[in-house]
Amino acid sequence: MSVNLLRNRWQQLTESEIRRLQVAQLRQYLDNVVLPFSAHYRKLFNELGLTADSIRSLEDLRQIPFTSKSDLLGTAESPNRFKDFILIPDEKVLTHRPSTVLRALTHGREYVRRQFESEFRPIFMTFTTGRSAEPTPFLFTQHDIANLGTAARRVVEICAARREDRLLNTLPFAPHLAFWLAHYAGTEGCVMTLSSGGGKVMGTEGNLRHIRKFKPDVLIGIPTFIYHLLTQAADEGMHCENLRHIVLAGEKVSDGLRVKLRDLAREIGAGNVNILATYGFTEAKQAWPECPYPHDQSPSGYHVYPDLALIEIVDPQTGEILPPGTPGEIVFTPLDARGSVVLRYRTGDYIDGGLTYERCPHCGRSLPRLFRNSSRRSEIKQMHLDKIKGTLVDFNELEHVLDDVQQIGAWQIELRKLNDDPLDLDELILHVQRLNGSDETQLSRELSKRCFDHLDIRPNRILFHDAEEIRKLQGVGTVLKEQKFVDHRPAVNPPAEAGRGVLTAPPTGHRRGEDTAPYLNSSSNGEPETKNLS
Ligand SMILES: [Zn+2]
Repeated sequence: MSVNLLRNRWQQLTESEIRRLQVAQLRQYLDNVVLPFSAHYRKLFNELGLTADSIRSLEDLRQIPFTSKSDLLGTAESPNRFKDFILIPDEKVLTHRPSTVLRALTHGREYVRRQFESEFRPIFMTFTTGRSAEPTPFLFTQHDIANLGTAARRVVEICAARREDRLLNTLPFAPHLAFWLAHYAGTEGCVMTLSSGGGKVMGTEGNLRHIRKFKPDVLIGIPTFIYHLLTQAADEGMHCENLRHIVLAGEKVSDGLRVKLRDLAREIGAGNVNILATYGFTEAKQAWPECPYPHDQSPSGYHVYPDLALIEIVDPQTGEILPPGTPGEIVFTPLDARGSVVLRYRTGDYIDGGLTYERCPHCGRSLPRLFRNSSRRSEIKQMHLDKIKGTLVDFNELEHVLDDVQQIGAWQIELRKLNDDPLDLDELILHVQRLNGSDETQLSRELSKRCFDHLDIRPNRILFHDAEEIRKLQGVGTVLKEQKFVDHRPAVNPPAEAGRGVLTAPPTGHRRGEDTAPYLNSSSNGEPETKNLS
């Protein structure tokens, strides 16, 4: 009952209805699906003396310990810990359920067997890649694929794409959620889609050719790549008047970048483009989009599907559940997943506007929204800090600082050690693409001052490049995901286990030579990135 109501009226429920129905659905889900068939959670609940009935309100969730990326990673003693999180149905339990007996009587045993197989047999996987760890598989059943299709269809709906639109999906071909979500957005949303595989598969030229011939209304991709693509399109004097939406995945999208992308779109004749960000991670098996908004206003946040995801915002230090509208860390619990299942999953991603249940001012939907307060910088900065030159640097902030400068285009932060000596001083080198013939000396001074004013740190060197050079530096066309942060510091200590978030932007250090990709592969890891450098 609650499942149907949540599913059918997913975008028009009030806060109290959502909370009540979500708790009812969670209890049912724990009772029928998770606790009977998940080795990890059955053991955990037994040890703590908990049952599905222990959860009578959202506040009761705090009795369930968090799960984080590190719980899924293999150790020397148990290399396949991720398997403990895969639901494995017990035939005896299933056969004895009255609903099974009834269905067998009405439809036959073979039908029931096929249904259970569709629900529980893993048939598809995506991967998360931790910095120092083996990629961890996350398994889907047909039931999950159906939910992925539902989530993807809703992305199309919330982003206001039309059936007659053409989608150009430039996300890299990879066993990562973002690519597949974009794929299903087309097939389930009934919209013509062309997946190019991104820069690595056919280069910028190949993607430009598609823009020229396919004339997409919607362009989907990683922000850094889309920026390069549009820069080159503008340089070549291309036209793509019907482009209406740019949907971004895999990286946080700063306000400055939105402005730059909109300007570039204007240069190729698309005068009124919506820049829409999405947020998702492997363990969610879904992603949540922004809806279109007037360009003189701010986006209203990521629209969460209340029948598929229960989101909590917690204090990153204490783990306490925070009230709506309070900044904190995003914690996810699925409400209808099969295959790999994690409860109270700590994303390591910080959202500075918290979770709100207020009606969306732009699209009018009543959905829980993860709200980014773009005018205010994050107050709790520990979530995305790294120590450089002895100073703690907030990379989230650094990204804002650079994207907001109109005279520069793409950029890259390179971290080095002086003389490549691991024990010597850190060096921060800022590579930037200079735009509009601005004066190098003056721009250098301004960038240095901005970095110092916002972050108490000055780059050791600022190097200017043309578009082609910066493309090479970022690996456009050669790596799966373009690199905005590179860490060339030789490691002194093995890196601590760490996480990177879509909403946060720590450096991609220690990942040199390793392909990284969205959804956000890396996003999915639990704790904030920490390194011992002192
Ligand atoms: Zn909206």
